Formats: sequence, C-alpha cells, structure tokens
Amino acid sequence: MIYWEKAKILLSRILTNTKCHINKDTLAKVAEWSRNISWRSPKTAGITFLALVVFLGGIFYFSTTTSAVAIFVNGNNTGYAASMTEAKEIVEEVLSKQGEVAGTIARTTDSIEYNKVRIKKKVYATNTISSEVLLKSIKPYIDGYGLQIENKVAIVLANEQELDAVLTKYKDYFTKPSEKNVVNSAEFLENISKVAIKVDPSEIMNVDQAFDLLIKGDVAESNYVVEPNDSLWLIARKNNMLTDEVIAGNPGFTEDTIIQPGQEIKIVKVQPFLTVLSKGTKVVNEVIPFDVVTKIDSKLGYGKSVVQQAGKDGEKIVTYNYVEKNGSVIEKQVVKEDILTQPEKQVIAKGPNRATVYVGTSRGSGSVSGLIWPLSGRINSYYGYRWGSLHTGIDIDGVTGQPYVAAASGKVVSAGWNGGYGYAILIDHGNGVATRYAHSSKLQVSAGQSVNKGQTIGLVGSTGRSSGSHLHFEILINGSSVNPLNYL
Ligand SMILES: [Zn+2]
Repeated sequence: MIYWEKAKILLSRILTNTKCHINKDTLAKVAEWSRNISWRSPKTAGITFLALVVFLGGIFYFSTTTSAVAIFVNGNNTGYAASMTEAKEIVEEVLSKQGEVAGTIARTTDSIEYNKVRIKKKVYATNTISSEVLLKSIKPYIDGYGLQIENKVAIVLANEQELDAVLTKYKDYFTKPSEKNVVNSAEFLENISKVAIKVDPSEIMNVDQAFDLLIKGDVAESNYVVEPNDSLWLIARKNNMLTDEVIAGNPGFTEDTIIQPGQEIKIVKVQPFLTVLSKGTKVVNEVIPFDVVTKIDSKLGYGKSVVQQAGKDGEKIVTYNYVEKNGSVIEKQVVKEDILTQPEKQVIAKGPNRATVYVGTSRGSGSVSGLIWPLSGRINSYYGYRWGSLHTGIDIDGVTGQPYVAAASGKVVSAGWNGGYGYAILIDHGNGVATRYAHSSKLQVSAGQSVNKGQTIGLVGSTGRSSGSHLHFEILINGSSVNPLNYL
C-alpha cells in the first residue's frame, strides 16, 4: 500500500498545481477500482508505473506548452496570437489602420492562413505577433484615384472628388477668376486621364500635398555664360524668368551681386507638371505712361539736361480678351478702352550733344501722315524711363536677318555704325519728323538716298549695345524722341 499512498499524494499535488478538471466522483471511482486490484502483483505494479510515467509526462508537456494560432503570410509563419479571434483581429486592425488615410479598409492580395498549433510557452513569448511585425510581412493596398499625365501617374488621391478638387485648385491658381476676370475656358494642354488605381496607402496624398507637387513640377537646370553688358535682370529676361528666380537658382546671389562676362551661372527653371490654357475677359486699370519730349537747348552745357515740365501718367480702364498659359498672357485683344485721365508730357531741355546725329533733319510741323510699323513683332521694351534712363524708342522683337522697312518715305540722313546703336539708319521724312532704326545686322541703304514707305532698308540684328536680336525704332520730332506708339 505504500506505493498507492505515495502515488495518491503525488497525484493530488500535481492536480492542485495543474488545475486538472477531475471531480471527486472520478477520484472515488478510481479509488474503488484501485481497491479491487491486487497491488502485490508485479504485473500490476509495472503497469501502474508505466501509466504514471505517461501521465506525468503528459502533465509536464501541457504545463510547459500552450495552444496558439500561427499566422502564415504567403506560407511564412509571421508569429503567434493567443487565439483564432485574436489572430483575425490583429490582421483586421492592421488593414483598417492602413485604410484610414482614404477612409476605408485596406486590403491585401497576400494569402493569410491561420493554423492552430501547440508550442512551447517560451517560443510563444518571443514570437507573439504585433501589428508592426505583421505590417512588415503583408502589403496592404487601397483603391485610390490617380491622375495620369502623358501616361505617367503623377498623383494619387483617395477618391475622384478629391482629385477633382486638386485640378480645380490648380486651374484657379493660374487663372485667378474674379468679378473683373471672367474665365470662359480653362483646359490642360497635357494629355491627362483619371484612373482607378490600387496603391500602397502611403502613396495616397491629400489635396494640398497633391497640389504642391503639381505646382513644384520638374526642375530643369542649365548653365549660362554671362555676356558683356549682362545684368541679372537682362539674363532673367533672356530666359523668360523673373530676376528673383535667377537669384534663387544661385545660392549666395543677391540683387547687388556683380557678375562678370564669362562667368557661369545657373538657370534653374521650375516646370509645373500641368499647363493651363485659359481664355477669358479682363477689366484692368492701366497707366498711360507720359511722353518725354527732349528739346535741344544750346544755352545749356554739353550733356546737361533740365526738366522743364514734370510729366504725369494718365489712367485708363481697359477691357480685353486674353489667352493665357499658366497665368502668362500669350494673346491679348483690347475690346474697350475708357480713358479716365490723360497723361501730361514731360519736357526736358538738353544741352547740345557732341555726337549729335540730328544735323540734317528738317524742322517743321512735326507731323507726317501714315507712319507704318517697320517690323511686325512683339514689343520687348517700351518707350519711356526704364531702370533709371530714358529708353528713346521701342524694341520690336525679331530674328537676325529679318528685313525691316522704312516707316515713311524720306531721305536717308545717315546709315552706318553709330556707337551703342550699332549699325543704324536715320531717315528724315520732312516736317521735322525723322525715324531711327538701330542694332541692324546689315544696312541696305546709304546716306543721301531717297526711300519709299515700306521699302526694305536693313536687316534685324543685335549690333551695338543690344541684348538680343531686335529692332530699336525711334521717332524724332524736331530732334526730340517721342513715344512711337502715339504715331503708329
Ligand atoms: Zn531699344
């Protein structure tokens, strides 16, 4: 009986420790059964011993292991959860967290399997699944809405409404619709399309982020070699940029930075991803610049000048139809002009100029009928005070070698090299009116020759003090320059 007593004590200890669910009835039955057994028999003792070993082994196994659920992603075990419910919950948690950015639940194409297992408690403790661990193994996706520009997806939004909001914001940014600016149409020049797209949730942008990216666009960088007489302003003009943009591309530069011919500077141009072509009607208040009339006063010293009458700008309300590309006017047609105040001309008295070329021009009424444009082209620079000095004519854009014509018939006073004017022509039209054509690449008339209105007299160039091919055209009345636009 010693055997049985010892076994009983051991059994009760184990049972209390392992919380096995064996009730008193079962114990009583086992006790009764055991009493009927001949314990002295060696066979019985052997079987009892074996049963005990198996039983204790089982107890040991169950007390050091635990049941768990292994989460397999694409066949790889990623870790364990305590139960099937917990395993599924953690997967759902990861997917819904990933979908938050688009207000949805993310999905995944990865295969996820749940396997019930029994593993060592130690293994479970070190391989418990967490959402961070799980996220490393699965690739969640959500259904986004992308904008394709020339077959390349540039931005992805959560849905079509947000994508449309970005496009509207972009158009408004450049077209600036208002009461005084009625935008009739605004279209993108690029080939764009909207596409439903499956993306990683991290690729989804909000409206502001997507807008910023489109505006920032691509950055194109090139080098520019400074030419004689270049300034930051002139370089900006040549590259169709703002001075500030040129400065921004060259760290350390300020407006006062002195640049040297031959020096290499950077031209950093920002090219937005989309180009808005807009058409509309604008009503704007415009300044009417005053004319500057210079009179030669022999009583003044050489090169001296005195303002005899201060000029005053006028003002007008102009209504025009326009075509704009990303906010820059490319076509403009004035449909209505209401003058509010007329400008008053400025009169400057000037001492005689040593290098005067007016000699030979006639004196007279200052009128000549039907002056025509010597060259058709965009006006690069207007008449008037610009950057501290008087621009005595208008600069008409042209290409080198392009022929230009006489604005009216008359007699060539001079045709040849004239300092800053380069190769230039001066024509006397009678009645005190003369015209000058500067920066030519070639002259086709000579001094003393008579010319007809519309006759080709020279070819456009960039000689003398010039920043590019154009025709500098002046009208002189009794030797003083006037605003040509008032006479053409
Ligand atoms: Zn000019």
